[in-house]
Amino acid sequence: MALHRHAADGESLRTRPQFADLAETHPLPKNRLPRRGMPAPLAYQVVHDELLLDGSSRLNLATFVTTWMEREARELMAECADKNMIDKDEYPQTAELERRCVGMLAELWHAPSHGQATGCSTTGSSEAAMLAGLALKWRWRDRRRAAGATDDRPNLVMGANVQVCWEKFCRYFDVEPRLVPVGPDATHLTPDAAAAHCDERTIGVVAVLGSTYDGSYEPVAAVAAALDRLAAGGGPDVPLHVDAASGGFVAPFLDPDLAWDFRLDRVASINASGHKYGLVYPGVGWAVWRDADALPEGLVFDVDYLGGHMPTFALNFSRPGAQVVAQYYTFLRLGHEGYRAVQQAARDTAAWLADDLVRRGPFRRVGAELGIPAVTVAVADGEPFDVYELSEALRGRNWLLPAYPMPPAIDDLSVLRVVVRNGFGRDLAGMLAQAVHDEVAELRRRHGGQGSRRRSGFHH
Ligand SMILES: *Cc1c(COP(=O)(O)O)cnc(C)c1O
Repeated sequence: MALHRHAADGESLRTRPQFADLAETHPLPKNRLPRRGMPAPLAYQVVHDELLLDGSSRLNLATFVTTWMEREARELMAECADKNMIDKDEYPQTAELERRCVGMLAELWHAPSHGQATGCSTTGSSEAAMLAGLALKWRWRDRRRAAGATDDRPNLVMGANVQVCWEKFCRYFDVEPRLVPVGPDATHLTPDAAAAHCDERTIGVVAVLGSTYDGSYEPVAAVAAALDRLAAGGGPDVPLHVDAASGGFVAPFLDPDLAWDFRLDRVASINASGHKYGLVYPGVGWAVWRDADALPEGLVFDVDYLGGHMPTFALNFSRPGAQVVAQYYTFLRLGHEGYRAVQQAARDTAAWLADDLVRRGPFRRVGAELGIPAVTVAVADGEPFDVYELSEALRGRNWLLPAYPMPPAIDDLSVLRVVVRNGFGRDLAGMLAQAVHDEVAELRRRHGGQGSRRRSGFHH
């Protein structure tokens, strides 16, 4: 989380007249722990009022994270807010629901039916990436030791467009991030370049199903084939991990013939965010390994479970059980057909929005045809404004759309992105499109000169 600096001032919060007599005897220091507590209605109102300035999550089109759930799901989450996921002994049924979710995902991602696919819930794809990366690193180390080779300076190969969690994994766990440059033709990892960056110190290759920059799927099957050729030609035998944070809950329903998962022998593990297109509030993610070989035993810890033990793999210890319960609820509630309908609606809305923006201009679409339901556009040349100005103007209308540069090597191109997800339907998209076109007209009117070229602080 954000690293905050201590503010040592003695500022206090002011209260509204209705609470004046309560507040009189209960001072409200802003930056210090109050000496005494205060009545619940006062504390509630103070916190509630402070939060008014947070944006409306439904209008936050920057986030991939779920911002709408049914009342029944919210009720279940409230019922489970007090359950600690790690207490398998006290809450065996929550553990059981987690187990069923892993089984459903393993099947959805075509784990070999005879196999021993294993998996776990996490706080999100970032934790899942740490776990999957660690498994790759340990397996590589075991292979090196067995071969009598040195096990220093491991590297991980991935496109320069990877989400920040992979650079984080590399830094935290002392692995060289080997970023494959992207270019104007392919905004993500390409098969031959991926193989060319591998050597005997490569612990794995990460392919992304749903790049955060432009939503495009990386060509996982072609990357796997390139790695197969590398191994067959006497080169290193490099396992593939798929970061399917978004795509893991989209491709199985909308692109069932696309082989990106355990159908490819080279895919050792997959992560996905339950709280993105998995349709659950933050934070829940999933990591699944193809078989027992893919997950070194040394990484697994036992916790007590009904008088016995249960294996766990996690960075956290305590964690709420509500999100896992909500994931199971959503699986039951929607089923395969329901997920397909929800994701198809998002893809249809994205297609409509992209078409409207391009047709009425002045935009061109960025990214591959096939991907998650996100619309990424660049402003056409010759306009007096840029995506940063447009993003800021839209914020004035309560729409939050991030503007940011593409990855290194193509970062002279800046884009605007809309994540289309459950709860952002065709009607809202129509209102957004109108706001965009109105603001374009307004910006054109306002200045004929060159727009500002400010950098974005947006992080993927
Ligand atoms: C969102 C995302 C992540 C990080 O996932 P969290 O669930 O937010 O931790 C990693 N990779 C990709 C491709 C993502 O879209």
